[in-house]
Amino acid sequence: MTSRATSAIIVGGGIIGCSIAWELARSGIRCTIIDKGALNQEASTAAAGMLGAQVETHQPGAFYELCRLSQRLYRDWSDEVHRISGISMQYIEGGILRAAFDQEDEQELLGRLPWIQNAEWLSAADMLALESGLSPHIRGGLRLAQDHQVHPVHLAEALQAALRKLGCAIREWTPVHSLIERQGRIEGVRTAEGVLFADHVIVSAGAWGSALTEPFGIELPLFPVKGQCISVRTETPAIHSTVFTKSCYIVPKLDGSLTIGATQEEAGFNKQCHISSISELHAKATELVPQLAKAEFIRTWAGLRPGTRDGMPIMGYLTQLPGLVLAMGHYRNGILLAPATGRLIRQLLLNERADLDLAPFSPDRPLQLV
Ligand SMILES: Cc1cc2nc3c(=O)[nH]c(=O)nc-3n(C[C@H](O)[C@H](O)[C@H](O)COP(=O)(O)OP(=O)(O)OC[C@H]3O[C@@H](n4cnc5c(N)ncnc54)[C@H](O)[C@@H]3O)c2cc1C
Repeated sequence: MTSRATSAIIVGGGIIGCSIAWELARSGIRCTIIDKGALNQEASTAAAGMLGAQVETHQPGAFYELCRLSQRLYRDWSDEVHRISGISMQYIEGGILRAAFDQEDEQELLGRLPWIQNAEWLSAADMLALESGLSPHIRGGLRLAQDHQVHPVHLAEALQAALRKLGCAIREWTPVHSLIERQGRIEGVRTAEGVLFADHVIVSAGAWGSALTEPFGIELPLFPVKGQCISVRTETPAIHSTVFTKSCYIVPKLDGSLTIGATQEEAGFNKQCHISSISELHAKATELVPQLAKAEFIRTWAGLRPGTRDGMPIMGYLTQLPGLVLAMGHYRNGILLAPATGRLIRQLLLNERADLDLAPFSPDRPLQLV
């Protein structure tokens, strides 16, 4: 018996929508990605590109397991996207040094050691031996050997090129105005250019996601969390691996630039960059790596992370709207979580055995709105 080819509409072409399309298209599903703008021009290319499963989690549990799954998938995923697209996403295995400046932070980091994977505590002297550009005022920190990085802009280019080669239809500058319900099921979307139907409708619209469920009386707790970043360059390399404190991070890129991030602001859908925030960020980075005081300024930008109150993504079927699948709310970790999200959503739609239980991320879980 031959199986019927199916189709999917993916609303939102950021890294999450694209990673889902990648998995579905490779399983023979005809995918159409629809975006209100150009693909990957929102949070996904504003990111720093850290794959920080260890650095970003503060407790064991389902979220950590999701991060670890994605981290394990990354190398093969990046190789395969490279093979199909011909473009490298600049996956660099450099690890992260998470430095502490005060006793409270040191205690918090030491408290992670019993459950966190591939982490070791380094004294200040050991940290400075690895990265001599660090401030002598650090108290020590964690070496997180498996928290690697990619370049989000190259990742976006690679994934988009691969999706085109896989035959995905990409509709840019086409906002989805509403979801279409027929006989109690979500079966399509309405755009200014007309309606579109498919076997699967997936919404991966980032910080904007709740606008599409609200007309059905379903308010999702998604909100934008602005992050401003700076890119700078130093005359000689200031650091070699990513360094991170509780107030900023510095990510060295292959072109010799350093990405310094990021502010964390609940300021609506506003993406302006402010001199005060940027100079504060620069001051914090200089406290960690003093050589940055004299760095050359390259540029600044901001993006809107799709936040949720419990800090967990929202992924899976929404019982109140049969037929609809959601994949949103990846907050600070959407770049890291892309391979696992694509794979888990494919497993859900194709009724395959799941690598991980999606229940903790279900849109049906009690969701705190404010
Ligand atoms: C400054 C900053 C630094 C970050 N650093 C990291 C990092 O180091 N590592 C990491 O893992 N993560 C990082 N993140 C988080 C990561 O960028 C996000 O979690 C991720 O990009 C979310 O991807 P997304 O596809 O859900 O959202 P987005 O990239 O925002 O994409 C959503 C898309 O949906 C489209 N859309 C919305 N509504 C509609 C509609 N009605 N119709 C059609 N299209 C629609 C939008 O136009 C957009 O293209 C960072 C984020 C920021 C802002």
